[in-house]
Amino acid sequence: MKKTIYVDNAATTPTLKPVLDAMIPFFCEHYGNPSAMYGVAGEAKEALEEARRRVAALIGADEDEIFFTGGGTEADNLALRGVMCAPKNTRKHMITTEIEHHAILHPAQQLEREGFRVTYMPVDDKGRVSLSAIADEATPDTALISVMAANNEVGTIEPIAEIGAFCRGRGIIFHTDAVQAAGHMKIDVHEMKIDLLSMSAHKFGGPKGVGAIYIRRGIRLLPLVLGGGQEKGMRSGTENTAGIVGMGMAAKIAAENMEEDMKRVAALRDKLIKGVLEIKKTRLTGDPENRLPGTASFVIEGVEGESMVLLLNEEGICAATGSACSTASLDPSHVLTAMHIPHEIVHGSLRISIGVQNTESDIDHIIAKLPGIVARLRAMSPMWNEEI
Ligand SMILES: *Cc1c(COP(=O)(O)O)cnc(C)c1O
Repeated sequence: MKKTIYVDNAATTPTLKPVLDAMIPFFCEHYGNPSAMYGVAGEAKEALEEARRRVAALIGADEDEIFFTGGGTEADNLALRGVMCAPKNTRKHMITTEIEHHAILHPAQQLEREGFRVTYMPVDDKGRVSLSAIADEATPDTALISVMAANNEVGTIEPIAEIGAFCRGRGIIFHTDAVQAAGHMKIDVHEMKIDLLSMSAHKFGGPKGVGAIYIRRGIRLLPLVLGGGQEKGMRSGTENTAGIVGMGMAAKIAAENMEEDMKRVAALRDKLIKGVLEIKKTRLTGDPENRLPGTASFVIEGVEGESMVLLLNEEGICAATGSACSTASLDPSHVLTAMHIPHEIVHGSLRISIGVQNTESDIDHIIAKLPGIVARLRAMSPMWNEEI
């Protein structure tokens, strides 16, 4: 059997073994409901609070500012609806970007249908949003600015500290979707003047279906899920104890190893980029400097991204084209379109996202296989002409 080389870590990461080990006791041993008062529940309650401290530490927050959710999507929905629909909010406008994840874009569109006004900021060719352009759009009616910390398709890092500084003092709440960034780059919610931040465990070595939102002390959100009042009423429902413990352990490991791991991952990424760009008529998408350590993204002329992904899969290599959600549709990625990648080549997109488990031999294997795959596909393409 061919070895699997998994390089789609922006879609999800394998759960780290120590994370799974930390979770296991919370199924059959410490199974108590954390809200209960007897012994077996005490263990769960304590573990929950330890996880909260670990997640807080990863982003420089205090533990009472962390609220666990059912993942990144829920945290994003809660941020947008929680601010805009809060009973005390009288402002009707929010600003976001054209390159957000659908977990932001779809709730934003829903808010528009409900009568709010949403401005979607364009980005430059590298996928960066401009603070001065945002400042031009902000009005006294602007309640919320939501800009992702790093993009999931191209890895571009956004100027969030600058946007945070702009919002603070103007009565505008600043939210960042840090699902790609958390655990992969240094984030300090105080230094960056972030009011709300979304994160998701499965993007940094934790389990799927658990995430968190950081809510700066003093900010009031309308909860999405009402019920038993868990998470101080911000997210009712019996806590996913094992998942939360796993997220806490993943946060601890990420915080401890980030500097070393990300240096190594970035070196692999740079080697990969160099190798892939040897293929002619290929370009890197996203920002060459301000990018996530693990994310390399390209457009390759004369091929279809889907075909590339299928042929890579035959070589045991798991990579992505466009966004994971777009595999069912033929529309080009909204991110690449926003970055003005010409229509003729936007379909040849390839994202290779490297994780802590990848090795140099994985990268060598990809660099060895990809040129042949591209040549095969180009030979079959009626559109491809060597001379152009
Ligand atoms: C994966 C992702 C999400 C969604 O997180 P889930 O935990 O999978 O719901 C949101 N935003 C970004 C940028 C992502 O990469």
